[in-house]
Amino acid sequence: MSTPSNTAAPLDALIVGAGFAGLYMLHRLRHSGFNARIVEAGSGAGGTWFWNRYPGARVDIESMQYSYKFSDELAQAWDWSERYATQPELLTYVAHVIERFNLADGIQYNTRVNRASFNDATGLWDVATSDGKTVTARHCIMATGCLSSTNEPKFPGQDSFKGDTWHTGRWPKEGVDFTGKTVAVIGTGSSAIQSIPEIAKQAKRLYVLQRTANFSVPAHNQPLDPAYVADIKANYHDLRARGLAQPLAYDINLNPKLATEMSPAEIRAELDARWAWGGLPIYGAFADLLVDPNTNQLVAEYMREKIRSIVKDKATAELLCPTATFGCKRVCVDTGYYQTYNLPHVSLVDISKIGVEEIIPTGVRAGGQTIECDAIVFATGFDAMTGSLDRIDIRGRGGEALKDKWAAGPITYLGLMSAGFPNLYTITGPGSPSVLTNMIMSIEQHVDFITDCLEYLRAHGIAHIEAQHDAELAWGDHVQEVANGTLLYSCNSWYLGANVPGKPRVFMPYLGFPAYAEKCREVAAKGYEGFALSAV
Ligand code: FAD
Ligand code: NAP
Repeated sequence: MSTPSNTAAPLDALIVGAGFAGLYMLHRLRHSGFNARIVEAGSGAGGTWFWNRYPGARVDIESMQYSYKFSDELAQAWDWSERYATQPELLTYVAHVIERFNLADGIQYNTRVNRASFNDATGLWDVATSDGKTVTARHCIMATGCLSSTNEPKFPGQDSFKGDTWHTGRWPKEGVDFTGKTVAVIGTGSSAIQSIPEIAKQAKRLYVLQRTANFSVPAHNQPLDPAYVADIKANYHDLRARGLAQPLAYDINLNPKLATEMSPAEIRAELDARWAWGGLPIYGAFADLLVDPNTNQLVAEYMREKIRSIVKDKATAELLCPTATFGCKRVCVDTGYYQTYNLPHVSLVDISKIGVEEIIPTGVRAGGQTIECDAIVFATGFDAMTGSLDRIDIRGRGGEALKDKWAAGPITYLGLMSAGFPNLYTITGPGSPSVLTNMIMSIEQHVDFITDCLEYLRAHGIAHIEAQHDAELAWGDHVQEVANGTLLYSCNSWYLGANVPGKPRVFMPYLGFPAYAEKCREVAAKGYEGFALSAV
């Protein structure tokens, strides 16, 4: 794979990140005749699926829907082997996409963007990279990912640990062999819930340190039946259209009824059917699930009943029963998670009252216990939505730092741009549906919007586009107002930045698909309403 060298002439667009967002962005821009390229920190493409190689890593949205829809040829040619693709299969898909659309020569790997500054004199972005070079581009597109910057709490004594440590989001390519080892996993979010059953298969002893119990629904993963795939492929557009018409941009067979409109028997049947189907369609059980606390409790209690029926040790089952609002943190999708606690060598450690006090040379002191172990897995998640942007020194007009502008929480118009930072775009940025959806659909929607926008600017001789401050303030209020009308504020989720000490508590994604996509279409149709366009 060739590595492009610096070019003297400014690029039309520099794209930061080679995940699903960056790759599709490069494809669209090249296809429209723009001179664009990607700079990627990792040594390969795939973003999330490049970095998260922990055992058990796979999608929580069915692969027939968690895949690009922009190319019929790709959708027809590609065959997923399982209902929920594994991380290695996702990387094979990424390699296929790069080859099919001839993207390889447009990606520079092993290069981190450290600083991006809008040059007031030239009207261009000067982007400083870790190879000591500066790339100049008219447009700078952040495809840096919502969940790509790891959250690695610094526990006292961490450096003293004599064993091995890993973070799920930075898993080594060569894998990790836990055979014969005593392992402590810190965290019980999606990454932990997927990896714990797999680690348990190898480890001699496994301790899971749980601060907050999470809801998890079985995936019921299985090899894909060729007849089922053929049926979907024959009507792929219909499936995509159904998905795009729903709030998760994923066809979850949304029930339009409120729980109050249903009898107890109907409610039970609805939940049983969704549990039997598996995965995130549980979100679609009742139209008021994220709005009415009583409906929410019905679902939460159903989930607790399931946990109690699976986990044999009563005390462990109770600890695993979440007390929080169902869905205010992303619901997990698992394969054998709760069953793992029935294994004699697996123990759940409650650290809800006394957290991780310190790491000692031989283990972890947490929950009032000393846990001796050979290895620690940090499944502690991400500095979500803003983390990867914060780690770049982004300067707009007059040298204003994005970090300073966002000190009290991100301010964006449509999650796409921020006033004072002309020609800087964030794919699935804060203030857009992003992480509340099937993300490939949200990525495609943003990439299409940005490409159309760049074509419009070129056709109209416009040099700069910038969000208007009043438009972004109004949009920010709207994002908060929508979240306020739901139960999403009711727990310490990463949607609110609550998992990172010191991060402002602001609801970052926008709960509003598919109306959001319609709003973007209207904005564009009105000549980019809410944006300032200038010829110089
Ligand atoms: P990413 O895939 O995160 O890619 C961003 C890229 O930018 C990375 O390669 C990173 O190295 C690079 N980058 C960042 N900063 C810099 C810099 N300064 N310089 C250079 N390069 C930089 N979503 C779903 O809808 N369904 C799922 O099932 C699902 N499963 C997930 C599982 C895990 C373990 C995680 C962590 C997330 C999951 N997500 C899921 C969300 C997932 O992040 C998105 O689906 C999607 O892969 C995001 O693609 P992206 O290109 O926007 O970002
Ligand atoms: P996460 O959901 O944020 O979970 C992190 C876990 O670490 C939580 O249990 C958290 O406890 C715990 N933790 C964090 N800091 C801690 C500390 N200082 N002390 C003790 N415990 C601590 O992160 P994640 O599991 O990596 O998932 C993040 C998101 O990525 C998911 O919500 C999902 O969107 C995506 N994802 C999807 C899949 C999939 O199934 N396809 C898999 C992985 C990730 P608290 O809850 O108490 O904060």
